Amino acid sequence: MSHIAVAIDGPSGAGKSTLARMTAKHFGFIYVDTGALYRTVGLYVLRSGADPKDADAVTALLPKINVELGYDSEGVQRMYLNGEDVSGDIRLPEVSMAASDVSAIPSVRAFLLDTQRSLAERYDVIMDGRDIGTVVLPNARLKIFLTASAMERARRRFRELREKGVETDFDTVLRDIELRDRNDSSRPIAPLRPAEDAVIVDTTEHGLNESFEIIRDIIEVRR
Ligand code: C5P
Repeated sequence: MSHIAVAIDGPSGAGKSTLARMTAKHFGFIYVDTGALYRTVGLYVLRSGADPKDADAVTALLPKINVELGYDSEGVQRMYLNGEDVSGDIRLPEVSMAASDVSAIPSVRAFLLDTQRSLAERYDVIMDGRDIGTVVLPNARLKIFLTASAMERARRRFRELREKGVETDFDTVLRDIELRDRNDSSRPIAPLRPAEDAVIVDTTEHGLNESFEIIRDIIEVRR
């Protein structure tokens, strides 16, 4: 029997992970945060002292990297880098930028493709990322492109970082978001853009619960 796949793509800070997690719980699907895979590769590259923009150096490191994904008893995704749980470390701001840099390298995208597709073959999934509807799961039952203004996304990300105790200031967060938007949308490989058959959901004016209800209703209609 084939499994149901829901693809949620969009820029960073649009609320993809929170909303995808809530939606997955509601429908009993597995939630896959694909950004965490790129972050894990980015973290390895930073730790090894290589430049995340240097495609040859990063490609040479890939055979040394084993990225695994697991779930804790609450159903929260954990990331393992060569057996080490790096779920906390991959959220640091410098790792966000490294993830964005390594994700523009074709060998990195190819390296992570099978992991993503094989999860969708085994489970009903809600997968969030940048190219899930366009590249990873082009036959997904439903594709949602979740977005919000850069200012609103920066506000949300700033709040989130502060709650986690990460020292930062708002302007830096906004600049990071704008830079990552540019990186992610302008790269030649798997650029961030809505799939032609994606439903666009703009959450700038909507709170979390309202956005959740919008997505839940779209999925219910499509199911
Ligand atoms: O979603 P998150 O912010 O954790 O992703 C980190 C970075 O990984 C993004 O800026 C993006 O460049 C990259 N990414 C990607 N394709 C995905 C998921 C994330 O290129 N499917």
